[in-house]
Amino acid sequence: MKKFDRSVDAYKEAVNLMPGGVNSPVRAFNSVHMDPIFMERGKGSKIYDIDGNDYLDYVLSWGPLILGHADERVVESLKKTAELGTSFGTPTLIENELANLVIDRVPSIEMLRMVNSGTEATMSALRVARGYTGRNKILKFEGNYHGHGDSLLIKAGSGVATLGLPDSPGVPESIAENTITVPYNDIESVKYVFDEYGDDLAAVIIEPVSGNMGVVPPEEGFLQDLRKITEENETVLIFDEVMTGFRVGYNSAQGHFGVTPDMTCLGKVIGGGLPVGAYGGKREIMERVAPVGDIYQAGTLSGNPLAMTAGYETLKAMDQAAYQKISKKVDRLIEGYKAAAEKYNVPLTVNRAGSMVGVFFTNEPVVNFETANQSDLEMFSRYYRGMIEQGVFLPPSQFEGIFLSSAHTDEDIEDTIQAVETVFQTL
Ligand code: PMP
Repeated sequence: MKKFDRSVDAYKEAVNLMPGGVNSPVRAFNSVHMDPIFMERGKGSKIYDIDGNDYLDYVLSWGPLILGHADERVVESLKKTAELGTSFGTPTLIENELANLVIDRVPSIEMLRMVNSGTEATMSALRVARGYTGRNKILKFEGNYHGHGDSLLIKAGSGVATLGLPDSPGVPESIAENTITVPYNDIESVKYVFDEYGDDLAAVIIEPVSGNMGVVPPEEGFLQDLRKITEENETVLIFDEVMTGFRVGYNSAQGHFGVTPDMTCLGKVIGGGLPVGAYGGKREIMERVAPVGDIYQAGTLSGNPLAMTAGYETLKAMDQAAYQKISKKVDRLIEGYKAAAEKYNVPLTVNRAGSMVGVFFTNEPVVNFETANQSDLEMFSRYYRGMIEQGVFLPPSQFEGIFLSSAHTDEDIEDTIQAVETVFQTL
């Protein structure tokens, strides 16, 4: 059995310093009945905790590290940038470079604004959509998570779903009543909402592949139908690609599915492990943002040189071939999971989009939050602890996806499949 003595001590100290001992609830391991593990370092596909245990990492800081940990190209550039000064509060050239890369690759983005997190990106995009349309209401989907902004913390996924806190105290009723939620992949409900509120719907915001109720891809035609309805009603369609952006593929989820929204939110991979978010879209919409336009949004550290550098190096390294290579490893991993489930009679549904994988302990298809909830959470918890013992670090919740990086080797995948076999045998 692995020992976690130092993590246990660190956690005892941390719980008096931070709520739950953590700086973000998803790190708390509540749903898998463990205490958090404190990490010390990472290299490539591996991370090492403060007790000296090592793990193959499929969390990758919850998505950003598509090149794996401490990639040489990123680290070297960061060192050089840091020596030149960490922040100026003026424009710098690297902001243009990253902006150009993003605009080249994300079909909907003609112009963008950098921010510091995914939450900031979605909050700002909503403000712009409301200012642009002069409307108040927004439509979101159950089990989608768009950060912790007031308007969006309603029937949200991720940590909110894991902890069973769908409607957080502290969100004023007057704000919550402007957010309408419907089940994911349910176009009839969307139509109903448009019939009722069409002229007051500022925006529809969606994860084009949902990654915050486990991984749930859009059903055939769903995103196309949303595009059509929003266009007809002059409602801004926002793709929240904080998780899917530059992860689902070279041109993000919108390129992959061939549906172009009006606005897009980004985060995670575009920061390469440093704090970055961005929102962008049609020039006509983005030119409403201050200082050209009248809708205000700002940030002391936005476009920070270190963050821009990590993002730029990461995106530059991820060419088409790099995506294809990761994709092959994902194919093999899924094959391994399915074979182990069959061999040991474990109920299993695997969803996938690019290098995002959702493993659910149920035989039924998982297409929305309700069906994701049919998964056997107790079995997930046993599987989780078993995988930790085997040296595989997964997100500690059924409602999160697994991520792969370009640093994961074929051997890593085979070792992981072996671990899955060993653990499934005990379930
Ligand atoms: N949108 C999506 C789709 C996300 O997955 C997340 C974070 N998991 C966010 C927004 C919020 O991003 P952040 O945690 O950087 O604020």
